[in-house]
Amino acid sequence: MEFKKHKTQGAATRAVHSGESRQKPLDSITDPIVLASTFTFKDSQSIIDYIEKGESREEYGRYGNPNEAVVERKLAALEGSEEAIVYSSGMAALVGLVMTKLSAGDEIVFFDECYHRSREFCAQHLARFGVITRQVEACNYDAMSAAINQNTKLLVSESPTNPHLSVVDLEKFSELGQRHGVETLIDATLATPYNLQPLNYGIDYVLHSATKYLGGHNDLLAGVVCGSEEQLSDVRYLRGIMGSINSAHNMYLLQRGLKTFTLRMQQHNANGQAVAEYLETHPRISKVFYPGLQSHQYHELATRQMTGFGGLVTFEVRGANWRETADIVDRVMIPKIAPSLGGVESLIEQPMIMSYFELSADERKQFGIRDNMIRMSVGIEDAADIIHDLEQALQD
Ligand SMILES: *Cc1c(COP(=O)(O)O)cnc(C)c1O
Repeated sequence: MEFKKHKTQGAATRAVHSGESRQKPLDSITDPIVLASTFTFKDSQSIIDYIEKGESREEYGRYGNPNEAVVERKLAALEGSEEAIVYSSGMAALVGLVMTKLSAGDEIVFFDECYHRSREFCAQHLARFGVITRQVEACNYDAMSAAINQNTKLLVSESPTNPHLSVVDLEKFSELGQRHGVETLIDATLATPYNLQPLNYGIDYVLHSATKYLGGHNDLLAGVVCGSEEQLSDVRYLRGIMGSINSAHNMYLLQRGLKTFTLRMQQHNANGQAVAEYLETHPRISKVFYPGLQSHQYHELATRQMTGFGGLVTFEVRGANWRETADIVDRVMIPKIAPSLGGVESLIEQPMIMSYFELSADERKQFGIRDNMIRMSVGIEDAADIIHDLEQALQD
């Protein structure tokens, strides 16, 4: 019923209202933050009824809490999925899904442009449990097809990828999975459900770090996996055992952040485009990675598949070494220097220093991380002010 209704409403209405009851406890317009590690039963018979009839109510805090339930319904409404499971972080969501779906001897194939911790978890830690990870060049569907064998259980990619913003053709990606009988996962953190709806292409699971655009205020960590009830019931069950659940406080913040989700995304999309276009014309910038630019390798596909291109802009400074690049980052005044992305405040970082400093030059080259690369998460400030700031930072 709820599911049907939210399919017909616009994203802004869903962001504000979906998942919430019309009348709430104490007639409050907002959901009260329910701080409880456990939930009481009035007598022993009600426990038996709960077990036998599968009544929907809370039991123990590790399995769920009321604030989390509201946010999960809202996120499912935005994604257009039957089910959404929220975790304590985006990484916890990835780990939760993969630990549920793969066993020793199984294999996972993913495109090599991805969040470095996702790569690390699969390649180094899943390996300890006998799960084999194969990495192939991003957007090379033939290479991915060739890497699939009878043990392959999951195909994984981000779209757009971080930090190169390559766009995966979801029709091809999901067709590849269906042809081989392998499930598919898209980490759509950079796109958000506002700009991309992977389930419409037949993708099995969509993952988001809700720490980024969904929360949107750089004040919480959360992750979510969306998909069908049938495919996610074992995932929810294992989350209850692993304990990677979020807190009621954080869930309230996420719910509040989501109220302005579509407004924020409109501004991120507009600002990202404006900053990317400005940088592209600047003589000191040799390359800009942004799917909204005509010069972007996947611009045509991005235009077909997405409704906007977000606030993440990656660029390279012409002929600069890492120190000269760092000087530019240090001269910027509005964006703050920090990892993360997708919040109202603009952030800036040099991937070589922020995330890849401990890697060898060879490894960085392999992942396409250049010394002169800067990644900027354009916030919701006035684009003119951000551009003016970049102008002064880029002066020789
Ligand atoms: C940040 C990020 C993650 C990890 O999310 P956390 O909430 O930090 O655990 C995963 N994928 C992408 C694309 C990200 O940007």
